[in-house]
Amino acid sequence: MAIKPPYYIVSLSGGKDSTAMLLRLLKENRPVDEIIFCDTGLEFPDMYAHLDKLEEYIGRPITRIKAEHDFEYYFCHAPIKRGNPEKFRQLFGRDFDGYGWMGPKMRWCTNRLKDQPRENYLRDLRKKYTVYQYVGITADEQYRLERPNNRRAECIHPLVEWGMTEADCLQYCAERGFNWNGLYERFHRVSCWLCSLQSLEELRKLWEFYPKLWEKLRQYDEMTWRNYRADYSVKQLEIRFAFEKECLAKGIPIRNKAFFTALRQRLEGSNA
Ligand code: SF4
Repeated sequence: MAIKPPYYIVSLSGGKDSTAMLLRLLKENRPVDEIIFCDTGLEFPDMYAHLDKLEEYIGRPITRIKAEHDFEYYFCHAPIKRGNPEKFRQLFGRDFDGYGWMGPKMRWCTNRLKDQPRENYLRDLRKKYTVYQYVGITADEQYRLERPNNRRAECIHPLVEWGMTEADCLQYCAERGFNWNGLYERFHRVSCWLCSLQSLEELRKLWEFYPKLWEKLRQYDEMTWRNYRADYSVKQLEIRFAFEKECLAKGIPIRNKAFFTALRQRLEGSNA
């Protein structure tokens, strides 16, 4: 069997780690045949602006891989065969299409919007090449290296090799003029803006600083059957965040029992 030539891919998420990895790989003239980015369509607008800027800076195109359908289709339009349709109807009052909100045990979006499209793309490349992937795991994220997926022979971990931590990556990018328009000052982890698996702290920032995205989140929440989070719907989150703001403006603490009692009353009174 003929030996397939090597093909080196940078797996770019657009975040600080993979961006720093890409910039340093190119600076060190390491082989890079293609830069791929799985586009869920759910990145913050600042992330898309960053990708455009990065493309211009490196003078090379970034291949944007997309799933067959967009988030909205899978979320609320895709025909889904329910295990027990009758019970589903009883619980939610009617049939709904789509997977609904993602959950800790139901990360369908990772699979549908990222893993599957990427694997399909790589499968075609592997027919012609021996594919190697540069993966942006940092030196202080060694636990991720333990995952079987990251231990495959085709994965290369340059940030670990260079001893670059997450903080080093952010600084490396900043020194080259990349700041994501402040995204990393607001969020510790930057991922899909509507992810229900984000922390409350991150959702609070989404509500506070990105009102247009929050409005879209509200619209999505009305289009589906599954609760946004086990503890709060989108409207309830809004009520909580607004109440917190109101209390803080009056100098009332928002982490004690009295606050949560008052919040519960407010939520009950709102019918949200
Ligand atoms: S970050 Fe959240 S919304 Fe985005 S793919 Fe992962 S689980 Fe889904």
